[in-house]
Amino acid sequence: MRNAFARTPGERRTPPRRGIAASLASIGLLLAACQGGGSGASASGGGGDGGEAGNYPEDQITFIVPFSAGGPTDTVTRLVAEPMAAELGVEIVVQNVEGAGGTVAAEQVANEEPDGYQVLMHHIGMSTAPTLYPDLPYDPLEDFETVGLVTEVPMTIVGSPNFEPNTFEELVAYVGDNLDTVTYANAGIGAASQLCGLLFEEATGLDVTEVPYEGTGPALDDLLGDQVDFMCDQTTNTTENILSGAVKAYAVTTPERIDALPDVPTTEEAGVPDLQVSVWHGLYVPAGTPAEIVERLNAALKVALQDQNVIDSLADLGTAPVPQDRATPEAHTQHLSDQIELWAPIIEASGVTAG
Ligand code: ASP
Repeated sequence: MRNAFARTPGERRTPPRRGIAASLASIGLLLAACQGGGSGASASGGGGDGGEAGNYPEDQITFIVPFSAGGPTDTVTRLVAEPMAAELGVEIVVQNVEGAGGTVAAEQVANEEPDGYQVLMHHIGMSTAPTLYPDLPYDPLEDFETVGLVTEVPMTIVGSPNFEPNTFEELVAYVGDNLDTVTYANAGIGAASQLCGLLFEEATGLDVTEVPYEGTGPALDDLLGDQVDFMCDQTTNTTENILSGAVKAYAVTTPERIDALPDVPTTEEAGVPDLQVSVWHGLYVPAGTPAEIVERLNAALKVALQDQNVIDSLADLGTAPVPQDRATPEAHTQHLSDQIELWAPIIEASGVTAG
């Protein structure tokens, strides 16, 4: 484990919680609190004496997304934020803090007040960043409290409408023959799309030219416009465009084909069984956030993951909420730790680093 990143208590750099918002590229989707019946409409979130949580949440909560609006992490965040806002009895503002493969947002939240009002939605990049970034200014395990896992999303390898190859086999041959011109879009070092590209390179022995974006929302827009050739992104961003034929789909990165995309072969069928990755997401608050606040957020997350609109929307996009026993801080911490261990040697062997 990379203890070099750990800070001792008291070393936390603490910018003002509210003031930082103005300097960020953000969008402010306000999710109106659902004023439910009975006493649930109060801002107390239904708490009793509250313990260390007091009357949390009294104020609006901000969910920080480490990638661009309109991308897959943003989509998952907005889906679960709505029922969580209703459950907590407050507004949830979704804010996009892009940059450096998600590490800018994670550093920001690590340094916020540990009061439960700034919540990070991050994905698998939380576990790859410690290996990719030699000077990462936070420790994923030490500087956050985990709230719970949210969903695990398959990835798809897709090509622009006029990109010549039509199958994965043709893709590999074409990229090999045109290495000096073919471009691969991703969301920067630490993004899931970058990790998937790295696995593609490992599996095929090809070294592809990367074009980094601040999220795969804008990357997909450029793919649709034939400005980049191919990319690997989550089904939550690609499914509709694959089904409509707007992009070419080469493979899905799961052991089995998925219901939402029954015609897309798996990477194993395509002959690269090692190219498998699913993008798990979880919620985080700064280390030191009182356990009662984490519990309130977790309880709301668990309700949101059973919300029929969330279940149906994720199913349409090729995925599902995690089961309730994985939507816990304990399961989340264990998974994060396991994933750091899993990806470190793979990334180290690739030689890729942001340093
Ligand atoms: N899913 C993207 C990635 O990590 C980022 C995003 O959500 O835009 O590649």
